[in-house]
Amino acid sequence: MKCQRCGKEAHMVEPCDYCNRIACRSCIKSTRTVAKTIRRAICKDCWTKIPLRKKFKSEQDPKKVKKPFVERREY
Ligand SMILES: [Zn+2]
Ligand SMILES: [Zn+2]
Repeated sequence: MKCQRCGKEAHMVEPCDYCNRIACRSCIKSTRTVAKTIRRAICKDCWTKIPLRKKFKSEQDPKKVKKPFVERREY
């Protein structure tokens, strides 16, 4: 597989979740596991863009996020 960021041939490639390019390990800046089934990878280019970096860092497991406007129903 060829890295779409640096153009080098790499064995380990991973898609960046923010620009959707396939990037090699040295082009991926960071990865994190948001939830059991959700894993995010960010490339070095997207890391330099503050809004994307924030998105990467602040993403939470949707199952654990409390909905702020849940109506309470009492029967
Ligand atoms: Zn690369
Ligand atoms: Zn990217």
